[in-house]
Amino acid sequence: MDLTLDLSHRSILIIGGAHASRRSIARYRAAGAAVHLATETPAPSAAKPVEWPRSADGWRGLLSTMDLVVLVGATPAVDAMVAALATESRVWLTRERAAATGPVGHVTLVGGGPGDEGLMTVAALRALRDADIVYFDRLGPHDRLADWAPGAEFVDVGKLPGHHTVPQAEIERAIVASALAGRTVVRLKGGDPFVFGRGGEEVLACRVAGVPVSVISGVSSAIAAPGIAGIPVTHREVSRLFTVVSGHAPFTEEQLAHLVGLGGTIVVLMGIGTLPHLSAGLARHGMDAAMPVAIIERAFTDSQRTTVASIGTVVASSTQAGIRSPAVIVIGEVVRLAHDADVAAVELLDHAARLAR
Ligand code: SAH
Repeated sequence: MDLTLDLSHRSILIIGGAHASRRSIARYRAAGAAVHLATETPAPSAAKPVEWPRSADGWRGLLSTMDLVVLVGATPAVDAMVAALATESRVWLTRERAAATGPVGHVTLVGGGPGDEGLMTVAALRALRDADIVYFDRLGPHDRLADWAPGAEFVDVGKLPGHHTVPQAEIERAIVASALAGRTVVRLKGGDPFVFGRGGEEVLACRVAGVPVSVISGVSSAIAAPGIAGIPVTHREVSRLFTVVSGHAPFTEEQLAHLVGLGGTIVVLMGIGTLPHLSAGLARHGMDAAMPVAIIERAFTDSQRTTVASIGTVVASSTQAGIRSPAVIVIGEVVRLAHDADVAAVELLDHAARLAR
């Protein structure tokens, strides 16, 4: 059951190790509660320390001043005693998992999907919830980080207009250093970490440093951006394969020839800058000038826009429309299936294709 309670100004008693309870403490503090910590081995924490009661009466007195008791990784003996007294004192009680406390932390590369929080996975949200520190960039969802990872520290390593991007080597150094300091690290990325996301490099950096690392797949914009524009990357009888390419650098003649020869759908990420080269190259290697092209800009944002053209007209259309990154380009007959595309443009294309025949 998922209960949402207003905890502001409520008194919460957390029972557990200071370090193991740090995530719980951060979460309840973020919810506005007055958080107290009872621990047998006192250590610095963000909660107000209370003395460990030595008797059942001492516990009764303490519990009676609280609205909620949270057991974090308690021993069975402490759990049983506190649970019985909480029932007796009619105080709410809940149990939470202890945060990892090893000398070396853990890095989780999390695919955040294309920007819509509805497309984040349950595993992604769970990893964020357990994070001590989150390294994020602007391509992934980040508006509600404070809710997803309450109390975690946030480091923006992504592109911000007017700011320099943190170099890849620096990101790798930082996530490894945080983990070596014993923290639970989330590296939140847009889309899927392994689709042009440099996730592989970050995994290697962790392995080299002996830091445990895991990866949570995300919904890639390569499929989701066409999808939200109503374009299926495959469709029975229309396209039985899709090729996902990076347009970051220009293609060789041989690659262009292969792309045309394969048929099916071509999905281009990071391809706005090299679009003139790509469209001319594909046409030179025999792609029909009437082949439909869709460009989906800023998918899943309020300013999402789909522009439909053809291989022959796409450069002029994109210049005219002022198309900018981030955008996903889809080349193939499947573009005709778009339901939210500019229908007039598709009809025009059909007309142009008929004229050309
Ligand atoms: N790992 C990411 C891709 C990173 S490369 C993924 O799987 O989606 C960055 C490129 O992804 C951008 O240049 C753009 O081509 C594409 N992209 C990512 N999010 C996008 C969005 N919301 N709308 C349009 N394109 C997007």
